Amino acid sequence: MDYFQKELETMSADQKFVLQSEKLVKAVKYVYENQKPYREKMDAIKLKPSDIKSIKDLPKLPFVTKQDLRDSYPFGMMAASRRDLVRLHASSATTGKLTVSGHTQHDIDAWSECAARSLVMAGADRESIVHVSYGYGLFTGGLGMHYAAEKLGAVCVPASAGNTQKQIQLLVDFGADIICCTPSYIIYLTEEMERMGLKPGVDIKLKGGCFGAETWTEEMRADIEKRLGIRACDIYGLSEICGPGVASDCQYKTGMHFQEDHYFPEIVDVNTLEPIGYKEEGELVITTLDREGMPLLRYRTRDIASLNNDPCPCGRTTVKLNKITGRSDDMLIIRGVNVFPSQIESVLLQNPNVEPHYHITVDRVNNLDVMEIAVELSPNFALDNVAGIENLQQKLKAEMASALSVGAKIKLVSPGTITRFEGKSKRLTDLRKK
Ligand SMILES: [Zn+2]
Repeated sequence: MDYFQKELETMSADQKFVLQSEKLVKAVKYVYENQKPYREKMDAIKLKPSDIKSIKDLPKLPFVTKQDLRDSYPFGMMAASRRDLVRLHASSATTGKLTVSGHTQHDIDAWSECAARSLVMAGADRESIVHVSYGYGLFTGGLGMHYAAEKLGAVCVPASAGNTQKQIQLLVDFGADIICCTPSYIIYLTEEMERMGLKPGVDIKLKGGCFGAETWTEEMRADIEKRLGIRACDIYGLSEICGPGVASDCQYKTGMHFQEDHYFPEIVDVNTLEPIGYKEEGELVITTLDREGMPLLRYRTRDIASLNNDPCPCGRTTVKLNKITGRSDDMLIIRGVNVFPSQIESVLLQNPNVEPHYHITVDRVNNLDVMEIAVELSPNFALDNVAGIENLQQKLKAEMASALSVGAKIKLVSPGTITRFEGKSKRLTDLRKK
């Protein structure tokens, strides 16, 4: 199976323009009539639904922010009636209230179709057994990929998160060929399977996976693909828009194919908020083109990324989202320099003597920011090799300073001592706020 919905995944630029424009015109009218907080934003700048005539007019529309969702907690942004809503999801915010997201049956179907396209890109077909190790619940990972697998007609194993030994037993006994989980969890599962002496291709039948809900690097992808012998696809999504499946990698990994018949992406300059061109990095802004429950026009995701429109050998014509390089929320400012945890990860993954497990501690000493990065040594590294450890520390320190443009203290720790997380990793302790 090459595509899940070929006609939508391989539209010409003209077909896309017509479809997106028709959908946007309808969406703006619908939102204006049914979503009070957004109507107020439009009224404030004297913008009428009739001013939006095609997708080209999108930049005229005001943005929606996470704060808008918090201010309207819990149901202020719902445009559909209670009668038509069928499901609520919510994401935990680092501070304050949850961000709630409501869906009608139409919204669930559209999301499931997009996520089913992602599964196919990872190598799934109707014969597949799809093992879902994302958490089930308010978090969209589990249910999102579950409904996608069923939409595809594959067999879904709703393993959910946790209980690693049981997960491995299910993978061995059921022979799943596709797995969905966070990138840090697949690395953890791989370590466990290697420790148990299980062989990829023999005991473990996995061929591909959709790994998301965290930022990860090309080095991590290469590591996963090599150790498990699988196709490791990045999958992007966020609960405010729907969940996993907004965009994902095909086998060629030319950027994540964005499901732009439902969700339209823009990249804006982080300072001016003006739209910028392909391949330029900025904040990702998404407009839902046909959502009913909680439509969002120009939602600022806080994710930092770029788009590319290069042709892909797979034949899909959708715009592609390059790897998320950071979240403006996660961004650390160390002595005035912007630092993303993904940059740190990238340095660690290039060094075979350390593992991609780390923890960052930031503090302020004598009014100066200091950063310490605790990094796990590789199990193959001799812990009694004191000179070797000192050399490695110096090497990492130099590499880190060059990659981040700001110095960091490196603390090497024994293998297995940094806490593993099955959900989103919590890799930062910022003591400056205390
Ligand atoms: Zn492709």
